[in-house]
Amino acid sequence: MKEESFQETYIDDRFRQLVEGLPQILYELNEDGLVSYANDFALSRFGLTRNDLENGIHFKEVLHPDSHKKAYATIQSAQPHGTMGTELLARSKDGSIFPIKISMQAIVKDGKTMGVRGVAVDLTETRDAETALRKSESYYRALFENTGTAMFIVGKDNIIYSCNSKAEELVGYSASEIMGKKCWHDFVAPEETERLKRIRAQRFSGGPTLNDYTFTFLTRDKTRKMIRAIIQLIPETDATVCSLIDITEQHRTTQALRESQERYEQVVRGTNDGVWDWDLRTDIVYYSPRYKEILGYEDHELPNVVETWKDRMHPDDIEATMAGNMECVEGKIDNFEVEFRMLHRDGTYRWILGRGASVKDESGKVYRLAGTHTDITDRKQTEQALKTSEKRLRTIFSTANDGVYRCTPDGRFITANPSMAAILGYDSPDELIKNVSDTETQLYVDPADRKPFLAVLEKEGRVTQYEKLLKRRDGTKIWISENVTATYHDDGTLKHYDGFMQDITTRKISERTTQAMYDISKAISTTSHLQELYETIHAILGKVIDATNFFIAMLDKDIDRLSFSYFADEMDDYYDIDNFSDPEKTSLVIHVMRTGKSLLLSTARPEDEQKWKELSILGTPPAVWLGTPLKIRDQVIGAVAVQHYSNPHHYSETDVAFMEAAAEQIAFAIERKTNEEKLTQLNEQLESTVEKRTAELREKAEELEAANLRLTELDKIKSALVSSVSHELRTPLTSIRGFAKLAGRDFTRFFRPLETTEHLEKKGKRIKQNLSIIETEGERLTRLINDFLDINRMESGKANWHDQFCNPCEIIQQAVNTAKGAFASRPDVTLVADMPATISPIHADPDKIQQVLTNLLNNASKFTEQGEIRVSVTDSRHALTISVTDTGIGIPKDEQNSIFEKFQKSSQGDTISTANKGTGLGLAICKEIVEHYGGTIWVESTPGKGSIFSFTLPAVAGLEIPCE
Ligand code: ADP
Repeated sequence: MKEESFQETYIDDRFRQLVEGLPQILYELNEDGLVSYANDFALSRFGLTRNDLENGIHFKEVLHPDSHKKAYATIQSAQPHGTMGTELLARSKDGSIFPIKISMQAIVKDGKTMGVRGVAVDLTETRDAETALRKSESYYRALFENTGTAMFIVGKDNIIYSCNSKAEELVGYSASEIMGKKCWHDFVAPEETERLKRIRAQRFSGGPTLNDYTFTFLTRDKTRKMIRAIIQLIPETDATVCSLIDITEQHRTTQALRESQERYEQVVRGTNDGVWDWDLRTDIVYYSPRYKEILGYEDHELPNVVETWKDRMHPDDIEATMAGNMECVEGKIDNFEVEFRMLHRDGTYRWILGRGASVKDESGKVYRLAGTHTDITDRKQTEQALKTSEKRLRTIFSTANDGVYRCTPDGRFITANPSMAAILGYDSPDELIKNVSDTETQLYVDPADRKPFLAVLEKEGRVTQYEKLLKRRDGTKIWISENVTATYHDDGTLKHYDGFMQDITTRKISERTTQAMYDISKAISTTSHLQELYETIHAILGKVIDATNFFIAMLDKDIDRLSFSYFADEMDDYYDIDNFSDPEKTSLVIHVMRTGKSLLLSTARPEDEQKWKELSILGTPPAVWLGTPLKIRDQVIGAVAVQHYSNPHHYSETDVAFMEAAAEQIAFAIERKTNEEKLTQLNEQLESTVEKRTAELREKAEELEAANLRLTELDKIKSALVSSVSHELRTPLTSIRGFAKLAGRDFTRFFRPLETTEHLEKKGKRIKQNLSIIETEGERLTRLINDFLDINRMESGKANWHDQFCNPCEIIQQAVNTAKGAFASRPDVTLVADMPATISPIHADPDKIQQVLTNLLNNASKFTEQGEIRVSVTDSRHALTISVTDTGIGIPKDEQNSIFEKFQKSSQGDTISTANKGTGLGLAICKEIVEHYGGTIWVESTPGKGSIFSFTLPAVAGLEIPCE
């Protein structure tokens, strides 16, 4: 009977039928408050069975005691046209409490109230399912309420029944002044009244009308305002709710308010979902306006036929959706929930959460499906975006080159990506997480570094570009840089931190290598000697690698010795290696130098075992040894090495690269410094030598000066001596010669006649001869003295030169005339003078020039027995060349130069015994005179044929005078 009443009442009521199909709680109470009907959904939600209903369930049993009163009042006030929703606390049979919202209407039959029926919405589910939506709804609701839209409820007669406080504020009247008294049009600007009346009339005549329009509003004080009015007909009444929004000022708020209004309406209507109801028997489908709206259609646009819905479904989703539907149709399930995409009118797909439930007839056959569509596009898009971003993040995490990790403050890894594991030398993130339980001691090269790092992180919340040195699993060191962000506990202490780690070893080493190389090159000039350079190099290397045990060995090729010029060692002392080139000698450093290649030997590497055995170890065996040759222009000059006694991983290939780069610079620096030192030594030697030599030179110079002084003095003495001796000689000579001549004459005159005997005649002849020898030798001695004085005067610059313009022809002629006398007694020799018609004059002492000519003519005559002696002259207008040619005995080639020297005579001697004996000074005087005038004198001669003596004299250019 209960079913019947339900069926009866709803059968013709299409809308109610559709509600029955909703996955919502449908119920009916009889006048006693007993539940006379509940759909399956309601029963299952409350944990009831049909049996329970049969046995009679009072509505109080399904409600929380707190809601009993409210529920009762709602039932009491239920009207046939229905009531607005009331929120109650429901109680299911198992005692769980959940919020519901019920709406109900009185069941009236034959004018008598039979009970109530209605729908209850399970708010729990709604809330759970649509938290996001509800959040936004509550936001809009709050906005609606708090914005305080002015609202009026206006009757068909235009009288205002009610208003809110905002409305009072807007018009400037109190509610009591307004309500029941004021007419709607009292607040409309006069020019707008007609238009508004028309709109209102249309509303009540059922024609198309405006529910949302703007108009000019008048307040009590006649202020005009631009108002947006939103009019809503209160269902089943003639009254309207007018919401007035002052858009003159708050256009933005208006917009928001309208939206909130719309949403509020929807909430009031109980659901934001589109509703569909499919009658399987007729295949007629009802789509609620909201359903159509979700897909962008106007109410009249979607035909109520079932065929078309598949057209709007995304092809990929049809199968799954159909399956749900069909299972429901076939009665396998009662309700379903499925997500799918539907084509919006604008061509895009909307994500829909579809819920559906079947309605069965008495025989249990499903004859209807009804359900809701919730537009979940936004959520889906967000989900999709989240999924994509999560996927992206995960990809980044697992494939990033950077190490990505999360670590606890006490130094355990929570997560790590493969790169992180690889950076730290572990095969996988799991291995890293498992093995590292204390980063401070296991990863930090210097465990003291971690505390300050954590302190900064805890204080700042993040640490960026933090660089530090870590140990890898195998003990090798790496430089890393990390960016770290902290996460805190509620109490503000550090919970964990997330880091991005990069291996910057290469950069760091290259930075440090560059710096070290620069420092080493600088050390050349900043250190004052080689030993200090070694110390500086040691300090520089120590900044990049552990150089606690370090040496520099240098080879002295000359003595074949390797000297450990510098070393620092915890264990051993070093001794130089003699006979370096001896092939029998082996050691690590010798090997490095012989091969010219770096050597890294670690006791941890099996492949090094052979080398360790082959090469003898000097001193304490290290755990790891790294040596590098020092080379200059490909010549190994030494080696550097570092070693560690306990950690076999202390040095790696990276360190080899560093040492090699540094070695180049070290070799260069050492060579420079050595050269510098050598240069300084050489310089010092040179300086002392120069000093010594300078002193010697100074001594010599002084000696020379003294000698010179002595010479000058001697010269002076000589000149004085010569002239005085000459004069002293000349005077007695003149007397000797005079007296000899006189004695000769007297002898001839007085003693010759007395030579009466042959004996006396012989003796007389002898005396006469001897006197003549005294005379000629005296004359020769006089000439010698004269010549000697002459040359002495010239050489000492004391000669007198009476220079004047003179005619050379006259001088030549004079000389020839003087010589002619001597030729009178010699018929075999002719003297010829070739004189030109004109000649250039000369500026000279004519006596001196004549002296030259006389001398040459005398010599010619002296050395010519027969033939011709010829004087000739050529004039080049700049100079005269005067020659005396003879046909005499000539002069051998090797003597042609020496005869011009003082006291030099040809080896042939005088050929004419009768001639005066020479002094050997004649040609020397000629040379002196000719050269005094800038001329030259020379001889061309062929022994046995004759000689040509020539000399030049500068002529007075541009003048020509007759020769005679
Ligand atoms: P001396 O007074 O001895 O002639 P000179 O200086 O005039 O000294 O000459 C030096 C020497 O040159 C002579 O002794 C002679 O051997 C050689 N000599 C000079 N003139 C001639 C000449 N015309 N023919 C050959 N020998 C000459």
